[in-house]
Amino acid sequence: MKRRDLFAGSFALGAVAARNSWASVPAAAAALQRTATPGTMPHLPPLRVHMNQLTDIKVCLRPFRAAGPRLDVEKIGDKTVIHHYGHGGSGWSLSWGSADIVVGKAASTLEKRVAVIGCGVIGLTTALTAQRAGMDVTIYTKDLLPHTRSVRANGSWTPDSRIALTKPAGPGFASLWEQMARYSWKTYRDYLGLPGNPIDFRDSYTLSDTPFDQTPEPPAPLRAAPITPAPANPKIAQNLLNMAS
Ligand SMILES: Cc1cc2nc3c(=O)[nH]c(=O)nc-3n(C[C@H](O)[C@H](O)[C@H](O)COP(=O)(O)OP(=O)(O)OC[C@H]3O[C@@H](n4cnc5c(N)ncnc54)[C@H](O)[C@@H]3O)c2cc1C
Repeated sequence: MKRRDLFAGSFALGAVAARNSWASVPAAAAALQRTATPGTMPHLPPLRVHMNQLTDIKVCLRPFRAAGPRLDVEKIGDKTVIHHYGHGGSGWSLSWGSADIVVGKAASTLEKRVAVIGCGVIGLTTALTAQRAGMDVTIYTKDLLPHTRSVRANGSWTPDSRIALTKPAGPGFASLWEQMARYSWKTYRDYLGLPGNPIDFRDSYTLSDTPFDQTPEPPAPLRAAPITPAPANPKIAQNLLNMAS
């Protein structure tokens, strides 16, 4: 998971490629001035991107459900099945918080032996959360690491990316989403500075074919993390802004 800084602006790919550095793109330089710590402004060389530099194409999934992730409990025979999937473009970001919710449901059955199906980011965080809660966990999976779809994702902090649609998700979803986002944020924070840097804060840049000064101002950044534009649920957007303030 790499959380990334978002400059309060975006780069114009065409413009940058044609010039020597960010400093010659006035709007980008101004955005950098607003956000970078004085004396630490990076030199960004122009990009040279050509089709023949493509070495691989990887496909990931955003398992989207209009009603938001499925987290409900179902009884099948003598087994309790707790569904846990459908986190859209926010699986990495919401995983720990979502795992906390479903493991809470598992704990309420008093069953100590748990089978987790899948070892994408959702399966792994669920298994670890269950293990930390004292459960005896076995993972059953079709693909092993590193061949899960999750491994191919960015792993940025994007908790409101393709997560739900307002109407099907219903009025209760915003607070559930906020619970997942807050819990995940706190959990990821605990991984900062650990060996191997599993989590860090990074600068990130938005590329665009439209010149920077012709695009509208992007939404205010969530501290050091990017917010994808126009979340589907306006309540979620408001909650994000509240979290950032
Ligand atoms: C291009 C891209 C970029 C993304 N970037 C981000 C990002 O920056 N931040 C973010 O928060 N989210 C991001 N996402 C979304 C995120 O990657 C997904 O929400 C997340 O990977 C879903 O995880 P998962 O564990 O549900 O699914 P998967 O990673 O697909 O894992 C599913 C698991 O189930 C197993 N399985 C499947 N079928 C069976 C079966 N029949 N029997 C047994 N096991 C089975 C698989 O083998 C696998 O282990 C991105 C998505 C895409 C497409």
